[in-house]
Parts: sequence; structure tokens; C-alpha cells
Amino acid sequence: VSCEWTGTMNLTEPHCGTDLGLMRTKAVPQDDGSYKLSGQKIFISAGEHEMSSNIIHLVLAKIPGGPDGIKGVSLFIVPKFIVNEDGTPGARNGVSCGALEEKMGIHGNSTCVMNYDEATGYLLGDEHKGMRAMFTMMNEARIGVGMQGLTQAEAAYQNAVIYAKDRLQGRDVTGVKNPDGPADPLIVHPDIRRNLMDQKSFIEGARAFIMWSSVMIDQAHRSGDKDADGLVSLLTPVIKGFLTDEGYDMTVQAQQVYGGHGYIEEWGMSQFTRDARIAMIYEGANGVQALDLVGRKLAQDGGKHVMAFFDLVKNFIKENADNEALAKDFLEPLKAASKDLQAAGMYFMQNGMKNPNNALSGSYDFMHLFGHVCLGLMWAQMAKAAQKALDAGTEDKEFYETKITTGRFYMARRLPATALHLARINTGADTVMSLDAANF
Ligand SMILES: Cc1cc2nc3c(=O)[nH]c(=O)nc-3n(C[C@H](O)[C@H](O)[C@H](O)COP(=O)(O)OP(=O)(O)OC[C@H]3O[C@@H](n4cnc5c(N)ncnc54)[C@H](O)[C@@H]3O)c2cc1C
Repeated sequence: VSCEWTGTMNLTEPHCGTDLGLMRTKAVPQDDGSYKLSGQKIFISAGEHEMSSNIIHLVLAKIPGGPDGIKGVSLFIVPKFIVNEDGTPGARNGVSCGALEEKMGIHGNSTCVMNYDEATGYLLGDEHKGMRAMFTMMNEARIGVGMQGLTQAEAAYQNAVIYAKDRLQGRDVTGVKNPDGPADPLIVHPDIRRNLMDQKSFIEGARAFIMWSSVMIDQAHRSGDKDADGLVSLLTPVIKGFLTDEGYDMTVQAQQVYGGHGYIEEWGMSQFTRDARIAMIYEGANGVQALDLVGRKLAQDGGKHVMAFFDLVKNFIKENADNEALAKDFLEPLKAASKDLQAAGMYFMQNGMKNPNNALSGSYDFMHLFGHVCLGLMWAQMAKAAQKALDAGTEDKEFYETKITTGRFYMARRLPATALHLARINTGADTVMSLDAANF
């Protein structure tokens, strides 16, 4: 709480990542109410280091004799140093780092194999309710990882913009822009513009999406708003999955602006790509986020939260129907995209019961379809706010005009992706599942 010690989450074991019910680490109860934990965890972020005087490991383990599978998992606090009565770190606990993982990126983080050899642990929450307790943290962490997708994209984009304005290559086909130089800057070329607009419109839309979700989290925590809580729960896999997939893609796009220099380490652009890649994997791989969204979150509380989302979009469109500045460029595309999302939900309802593979084969597309509709909604709201500021005679005219232009790009060039996702979803499981495993 005082930010002096760091913490870890220990879920993953060599034979289990997604399927944590297979977990083998065990926690044996002791007479004094503590437990002795034994087993091995892998891929533990910040598992060992000397940057703080203690590390508090949150460890999932099974108490012998408990229920099988995931229902038998409990959560424990295992400090690196046992804490003395006065709160200072005392004797070394039976937990140690077995190895450091060699990784593609995020080299600032020590990702460790952690060995527990009868380490002293203390039960956190109730016995066998470890997943529920861990999810308190994981839900927040998933939103944090979604933010990593956005922030990696933002940093890469800022570099790409500077480079595009600086690097001289070729001439503007509509007329020379830099007559005193040997060539025009990259930013004059339509394909570089397309690339940068993809990045900019994603980043600003995603930033609004994260801000909106954060406001709802505050509403849920500070005023017990159950509807906000439900909506955030529905959107969490979208934030995590969509923003990290897109965030990674945007770091690749930013690298592309540099041409060959993007591939050469000296420029630092490949680091954004390498670092962004993990966000698509940890805190539950993105395929599993899509599974969570379609298999669990859509139907949660009788589908109440997804209906609330549709109402939100519908009401925004209705309330602003007379706003001429929004109608064609923002409301029409949002309506079309939202219809695609509803049609996809309907397809799952009608065909998922018959054969769950029909729903799960389309879950990844659905997560992206949902993400685009969320960003479309954000852009429509931002355009409304920007237009209002312009109508009121704002002094920051350029900022608000830039917002509207960037939003128009997203609505025209990115949002139509929803139609492709829906078309794929509507083909069901047939083409995905037809091959025999031997034929791969
Ligand atoms: C750098 C790094 C840091 C990490 N930090 C931590 C940490 O601090 N603490 C921690 O506990 N773990 C950590 N992890 C582990 C990470 O959370 C897991 O790697 C991740 O959850 C996936 O588990 P797995 O690697 O076992 O893959 P698997 O579970 O084997 O999955 C492999 C692939 O199959 C897919 N898949 C699995 N099951 C299904 C299914 N039922 N339906 C459809 N698709 C499925 C997945 O989406 C994935 O694409 C870290 C990993 C890395 C690489």
C-alpha cells in the first residue's frame, strides 16, 4: 500500500496457462493457520529482483483434499522475506527464482521461473475461492494491459510522425512541397498519410475508450453503480483483446514509416513492436478474451449488459439525429456498424446453441467487431463535443477541427471493417472445423 514492496501474480505452471484447473502447486495447512506451498510457477513477471526490500507473491495453489480442477484452487500471500512483527522484512522464505526467461521483448521486466519449496503462505480470501479472488486483480490488470496496447502504439506513432516530417524521399505528385530540398518529406505521400491516419485515429479513439471505461470503473467503485460495473465487465475482454491487437499492428505500421531504418535496431522502432507483442498474450491470450466475451460476457445477467450497450448507441444516434454536422459522417456509419454487431449477436443466439463451434469460430471476429463499434461510438461523441466547441467559438479551433477530421477518417476507413467481421461470423464453423487434424 505504501509502494515500498512490489508484488507478483503466480498462476502459470509449465503444463498449465489457460487451463488453470490442471494446476499442481499444493498448499498444506499448518497448525498455526499458515500453509506450506510447494511447486513451480513459470513466466512470473518481476518474480525476482533487488529493486525493493520485499516481494509479495500472490500464488494460486491447491489445498490437498479439496475439489478437483479449478474449483479446488485457493489464493495465498507468499512473501519473499517473512515479515517481522514490526513490519520489517525478516528471514528468507522458501521461494526462489529458478531461471530468468529469455524473451522477445519487455527486457526491463525480469520474467522468472519461481520455485516454491515448502514456502510459508497465508490464505487470502476463502479456501477454494482463489480464482474469484485473483480475478479482482486480473480484471483490473486486463484493462491495464489494454492500455499497454494503446501506449505502445502512441509512443511508436509519435516517433513515426517526427520521421515522416523529417525524412526526404520522392516528390509530392500534386506539386513540389519542398523546392529548396532534394525531395519532399515522406508525409506528403498519400500512403504514408493513410498509415499515419490509421495510427492517429486508433490512438485517439482508444484513449477515449479507456477514459470512458475508467469513469465507469469509478462509478462502480465509488457509488456502487451496478450498471456501470456490468458494462465494464462486458467490455473488459474488448479493451484487452482489441486494443492490444490493434496496438501491436500500429507499432508495425509506425515501423513501416521508417522503411529499412525501422528494422535496424539503432532507430529503436523494433522495440515497440517487440514490447507490444506480449500484451496480446499475457493476462489471458486474446483468443481466450474472445472466448470470455462470447461464451460468458454476452449472456451475463441475461444479456442485460450487451442490451445496455446497444441502447447506449441507439440513444446517442436518436438524440443527435437532427445534428447535421454528425449525421452523414458519424451517425450513419455508427448505425451500420452497430447493426453488424447486433446481427452477429443474433447469429450466435440462433446458431451457437445448435453447435457451440458456430459461436466460437466467430468469437475473435466478434471481439474486433465490438472494438470497432466502441471506437466508432467514441469518435461520434468526440465529434459532437468538438462541433459544440467550434460552434461556441473556441479559441482552439485547430485542435477541434483536427479531431473532427481524424474522426471522419476512422468512420470512413476503419469502421467498415465491421461488415467483413460479420460476413466471416455468418459462415459459422463449417470451413474452420472441416479439416481433420491429420490434414494440417
Ligand atoms: C513475458 C510473460 C510474462 C508473463 N507474466 C505472467 C505472470 O506474471 N504471472 C502468471 O501467472 N503468468 C504470466 N505469464 C503467462 C501468461 O499469462 C500465459 O502465457 C498465457 O495466459 C497463456 O498461457 P500458455 O502460455 O500456457 O498458453 P496455452 O494456455 O497453452 O494457450 C496456447 C494458445 O491456445 C489458445 N487456447 C488455450 N485454450 C483455449 C481454449 N479453450 N479455446 C481456444 N483457444 C485456447 C490460447 O489463446 C493460446 O493462443 C506471462 C507470460 C509471458 C510470456
